[in-house]
Amino acid sequence: MRFSRLLVPTTKETPNDATLASHIYLIRGGFIQSVGGSGLYNFLPLGKKVLDKVRAVVKDELDKAGCQEVSLSFVTPASLWQESGRFEKYGKELLRFKDRKNNDFILGPTHEEMMVNLVRQTVKSYKQLPLNLYQINLKFRDEIRPRFGLMRGREFLMKDGYSFHASEEDMKREFDLMEETYKKIFTRLGLAFRVVDADSGAIGGSGSKEFMVLADSGEDTIVVCDACDYGANIEAAVCQEKEFTTDTKTQVITMKALYDECISEIVTFVLPESEVLEEVKACNAVKANDLVDVESPADADRHVIDNTLKECTEYVNPEYADISAVQEGDACIHCGAELRYTKGIEAGHIFQLGTQYSEPLGATFLDENGKAQPMVMGTYGIGVSRLLAGIIEQHHDEKGCVWTKESAPFDLHILVSNIKDEAQVALGEKLYEQMKAKGVDVLLDDRKDRFGAKMKDYELLGIPHAVVIGKKLSDDLVEFVTREGMVKEEVSSSAIEALLNERF
Ligand code: ATP
Ligand code: MG
Repeated sequence: MRFSRLLVPTTKETPNDATLASHIYLIRGGFIQSVGGSGLYNFLPLGKKVLDKVRAVVKDELDKAGCQEVSLSFVTPASLWQESGRFEKYGKELLRFKDRKNNDFILGPTHEEMMVNLVRQTVKSYKQLPLNLYQINLKFRDEIRPRFGLMRGREFLMKDGYSFHASEEDMKREFDLMEETYKKIFTRLGLAFRVVDADSGAIGGSGSKEFMVLADSGEDTIVVCDACDYGANIEAAVCQEKEFTTDTKTQVITMKALYDECISEIVTFVLPESEVLEEVKACNAVKANDLVDVESPADADRHVIDNTLKECTEYVNPEYADISAVQEGDACIHCGAELRYTKGIEAGHIFQLGTQYSEPLGATFLDENGKAQPMVMGTYGIGVSRLLAGIIEQHHDEKGCVWTKESAPFDLHILVSNIKDEAQVALGEKLYEQMKAKGVDVLLDDRKDRFGAKMKDYELLGIPHAVVIGKKLSDDLVEFVTREGMVKEEVSSSAIEALLNERF
């Protein structure tokens, strides 16, 4: 591609609402364009190239693991969500609308119902299982606070996969396979990440894991142990039991506990003064011990007491649960070493679903004895567009993006500093044609601009390598640049071809 023909509106202006490096550089580098500043983005040619490269890595690894790609209708009939009960339960993030015949529809924020519907119409026997189907498609969530560019958009690209099994055991095997497959994907994309235990709602257990891209700018706090490999989202983290005596000072927090998207109750939580309430654990506890008629929550006088206070409480009908947040320095549940906090960006989530959707939607199969059974499911998501932001959060410097090998919009950038200099142009064109013929994806900066401006664009766009052809060509020298660290090697113009052939 010739830079002079490329639509890449780079700018020095930092967008008003941008604080994160990824948001700033993706806009400044002309990768994406905001649509009305509300979590909606257009992908310009370079952004689309990066998105397609990331998507290709995801697809390649999933296909190798035996998954099959489909494409589901984005517009979803509300009737499917009424069958699962989510049409009413899902909160305001769900965009609901009607067609001209007054039928209800939604824009899919996730596609469990849609995929179960596909499978229940096509799979009848255990002989057709297991099955792992995925798509890489748009999602819409009317996020309350869309922010940080691609990190938390309202419309975004997700890889969502769903597996169907004849037994719990087989689903767990697939869950482990997906964990390994996701690790390969994140490794190929050049990301430093950690797989952590995640909140699985009231079900609890290790049925859900998140893939956290490690970055200080991440919105999630994760609890990690450096002595063993324990890691958990703070929403799900546990530690060894702490001991409190009968005269421990306590704090009482009365909160509207929100769970299942929009069911809420007023509940009183009691915990030691030194502890911090973890709201997700608290809401799960309310749901798990659901003793109260949710229709009349206002009359209920529910007290959930932290497990650490088992010895010392004076409440009537107390419910005990682990509702306090793990703190830094607490003892690891596995090895007893001190836990610490770090920050992560949730880029993937894998979940053992069981029969939560197959039962209400009637997705059954006939087992070996001819008996109808609900299919056992797993669900697996990757935030594909969020990954672009995650890559830049980890790979940038004060000048711009530093794309990793498998995510870069081009493999090589050739910069001709003065296009009025015939020798410079001739060498640039020659290398460009040769590398293209080899199948290397090359960007040739053939613009009339000043050298300084072109170099600034190179640094901002962040293609892993460049050949800079400048004044020193009269001394037979060109520069080979590695974007990471801006490492420059002077190479004789007769040796550059051989060097490129060796590197690419
Ligand atoms: P979060 O906690 O960040 O809101 P989530 O837990 O609601 O995410 P999932 O339902 O697990 O998200 O969706 C699967 C993946 O989709 C997430 O792991 C994340 O990478 C991505 N994702 C979710 N919401 C958004 C969003 N608003 N913008 C971009 N990517 C998103
Ligand atoms: Mg999640």
